[in-house]
Amino acid sequence: MAAEKREVCLQVRDLKTSFFLNGGRKVVAVDGTSFDIYLGETLGIVGESGSGKSVLIKSILNLIPLPGKIERGEVIYNGQDLLKLSEKEMLKIRGQDMSMIFQEPMSALNPSFTIAWQIGEVFRLHGKYTKKEIYDKTLDLLEKVRIPDPEKRMKQYPHQFSGGMRQRVLIAIALACNPKILFADEPTTALDVTVQADILDLLEELKAKTGVSIVLISHNLNMVTERSDRIIVIYAGKLQEIASTEEIVNNPLHPYTVGLMNSLPNIADDDQKLVAIPGELPDLTNELPGCTFHPRCSKACERCRVEEPALKEVSPGHLVRCHLVEGKEVSYGTE
Ligand code: SF4
Repeated sequence: MAAEKREVCLQVRDLKTSFFLNGGRKVVAVDGTSFDIYLGETLGIVGESGSGKSVLIKSILNLIPLPGKIERGEVIYNGQDLLKLSEKEMLKIRGQDMSMIFQEPMSALNPSFTIAWQIGEVFRLHGKYTKKEIYDKTLDLLEKVRIPDPEKRMKQYPHQFSGGMRQRVLIAIALACNPKILFADEPTTALDVTVQADILDLLEELKAKTGVSIVLISHNLNMVTERSDRIIVIYAGKLQEIASTEEIVNNPLHPYTVGLMNSLPNIADDDQKLVAIPGELPDLTNELPGCTFHPRCSKACERCRVEEPALKEVSPGHLVRCHLVEGKEVSYGTE
């Protein structure tokens, strides 16, 4: 699957997560998804809102709430399948080996506790540290995420921080235990543009220092192409294309990826007309035969309406799910 030999940090295999609704209806939010995360890379995951990106990450962390259920698949980390671990065992993995930066910095922190208390909580949960050690580690983290005057600021409450500063605190919490993988789910959505760039620069700087792998989840393809080494394109719960960022930018093969690339603004082209992808995501409560993208695809043919395309490897590390591409079929079945 990899274009070059890189050390695999985590393997997702044939993951399927569904939500069981009233009246026997079912929404398949993640449908047979497989990919690897390499050590020290930034892997971007893009797709429209509602395409299943966040559910995919929550499934990897085994954090799917009812009425959701992980129906099948494996998440292999350090030789063990995380989906087979107990909640107690997973609590050790979350925070320590893998952590997450959530979408909403304005609401993700508890307004009743100081910043120092909220960062210190990670150390109280994941180790046996003295009060002095927790204080020093908290101070060190706030310095790392470039909070000015950290000794004073750590005694303050979230409402005394701006959105960008709160996001820095959340990054500090996520990095407290030196995780191997950091999932950043729309980490800059609620922030203004200059603060967004600042937060993404900070993540890159911390990655260079610590070697953490970053999984950057966003509907913003522009941001993901600028910041990622590889990109996964998700549509209607299915992985449609995965390749290096260079390949996705210069040689997108799936019609959906091509549509996403065509919808990106080019500031060097004054006459550019942005081309939107017609239609909208399908209603996932109704099983759609064939390719899930066929109702919106300008290249759809009769075969696309009845036969689901397989994932094919078109070149090393470049996989595409479309009848129109030639390549070797890839299968990761775990059933
Ligand atoms: Fe379009 Fe058919 Fe390819 Fe699906 S399989 S993306 S409908 S051409």
